Amino acid sequence: MSLRKKVIISACLLGRACRYDGKSKPALHVSEYYKSYDIIPFCPEEPVLGTPRERISVVKMADDALHVITDSSNRDITKHLKFEILSFLKEHNDVKEAVLKSKSPSCGFKSTPILNIKKEQIAIGNGIAAQIFSDRGLHVKSELEVD
Ligand code: SF4
Repeated sequence: MSLRKKVIISACLLGRACRYDGKSKPALHVSEYYKSYDIIPFCPEEPVLGTPRERISVVKMADDALHVITDSSNRDITKHLKFEILSFLKEHNDVKEAVLKSKSPSCGFKSTPILNIKKEQIAIGNGIAAQIFSDRGLHVKSELEVD
């Protein structure tokens, strides 16, 4: 069993081409900073929607709850994403730290646009995974906070 500390990192920051547009968003300073850790890549959208995929947004619905809705086909995929994120956490319940891609509807931490049902931005908040991770007590930060 490894005694190294563990960190969850958004897979696109590690160079995996799993973004909605089929590209990655490598952040070499993050991999460098955590080189002594066991790095666990994380991407909840790819298994649910595939890559490339339609863009999605966090939308505050009439019931005041935040849902994840696909931009053009208007499908509510909140349940599917939550299932994916919770299954991942169940498998990695010993990890206490996560570095997640800023502004993403899944991974963004304190940086994700929150829209109303007319798809107008009304706030900045957390993506669905960042929210769940944070609620579960993980120390979450974005790639912009890693120096
Ligand atoms: S931001 Fe998160 S959900 Fe989006 S591609 Fe990167 S890892 Fe996947």
